[in-house]
Amino acid sequence: MRHPNRCFLTPGGIGPGAEGSTGTMTKKNETEDKGLMMNKVTVSDINFRSRRVLVRVDFNVPLDDNREITDDRRIRAALPTLQKIMADGGMVIACSHLGRPKGKHVPELSLRPVAKRLSELLGQPVSFAEDCIGPEASNLVGKMNDGDCLLLENLRFHKQETDNDPEFAEKLASMGDIYVNDAFGSAHRAHASTEGVTRFFRQSVAGYLMEKEIRYLGQALGNPGRPFAAILGGAKISGKIDVITKLMNQVDLLLIGGGMVFTFCKAKGYAVGDSLVEEDKIELARQILEQAEGARARLVFPTDVVIASDIADDARTSIVDIDKIPDGMKGLDIGPASIKLFEEALSGAKTVVWNGPMGVFECEPFADGTKAIARLLADLTDAGAVTVVGGGDSAAAVARTGLDNRLTHISTGGGASLEFLEGKALPGITALTDQGKPETVRS
Ligand code: ADP
Ligand code: MG
Repeated sequence: MRHPNRCFLTPGGIGPGAEGSTGTMTKKNETEDKGLMMNKVTVSDINFRSRRVLVRVDFNVPLDDNREITDDRRIRAALPTLQKIMADGGMVIACSHLGRPKGKHVPELSLRPVAKRLSELLGQPVSFAEDCIGPEASNLVGKMNDGDCLLLENLRFHKQETDNDPEFAEKLASMGDIYVNDAFGSAHRAHASTEGVTRFFRQSVAGYLMEKEIRYLGQALGNPGRPFAAILGGAKISGKIDVITKLMNQVDLLLIGGGMVFTFCKAKGYAVGDSLVEEDKIELARQILEQAEGARARLVFPTDVVIASDIADDARTSIVDIDKIPDGMKGLDIGPASIKLFEEALSGAKTVVWNGPMGVFECEPFADGTKAIARLLADLTDAGAVTVVGGGDSAAAVARTGLDNRLTHISTGGGASLEFLEGKALPGITALTDQGKPETVRS
């Protein structure tokens, strides 16, 4: 959704570095989930010495008008994998997409500024190939020495990348002799660089970041400590229906906040004022409420709501019961009574999965609910719970509170983490080599 300019929006330049965007895991949990980790070969299993390693990373960083990187967390997040390969004496040939050039060479979406920043972060030169395939790139690869790093130009300058074109995939694969995927955020898409290439490698292995995502998201879903709670919010129901219906039968408690609440409210016949309502989803909301009767999870809705006539930093707010929003007013955050209700409901939870902010957190007057949930999850984590956050805006919201270090795991993948939570197989993960498989070329 669009907010007026008056509202202070900083989805990019917020929060600490990558170290801060990923949580810590206690020893106990690490051993407990061993059997659960998807059975994939990872970079830890490989000595990369003198090998040319095609590494799919997610360097889709925000750039300003001067093509300066405004948030380098995604680059930092890939460093452990790149450093492991180079420390082994392997050659890193990194590739990524940036933005949506739609198959055209768009100079503003060149990865060149990323090569510069990567070089600074690694403390060594990073060479750059103007095209991700072709003679120049092959030449540069041919000249590499053990421990070198090369970054290829934006994969999506070729339409064949998103088409998962086999010829393009083969050309890309010819750059390396082993493949590493550390781009969890792109794993839900079967593109040439995430899925197609794996057909041309004997081994396709998970990077550290990928491994961590699979482990923590997988543990939350596969073997959750109970009570297991999910908190869902964000703007709309659409896009989250599958995750609601899936989690409804897995979790013990399902808390709903954010803008999606009001479509449910409308379905219940409440007065919703000018709040965000998806008219074409009201019937669906009604069905979900019916299904919830027989579901495993207890559904908890907010009881009060912060309202204002406009989304603005200086908005005049008041708090009303959730079923009595006056005409002309919008519900923009969960109210204090709801925060208390959610706190009580979550007390003692052993696993919590959170997707979607509780309100329009980008604006200070409507950020309290989201902040309160972040604090609550930090406290639950201290008490031994596993807490996992998925979703781009949710991750940004938690980073804004500075509490991201205190949660178990903040997923780096928006759409990918959602699909994972829906229980869908992600093609970029499925395509990786299973542990114990002999080195064979997949077909
Ligand atoms: P994620 O990216 O974590 O999956 P979403 O994209 O679903 O989350 O939702 C994030 C957006 O939801 C935020 O921009 C926030 O402003 C908006 N939002 C939250 N609550 C409301 C509300 N009550 N009314 C309108 N928008 C809301
Ligand atoms: Mg979002």
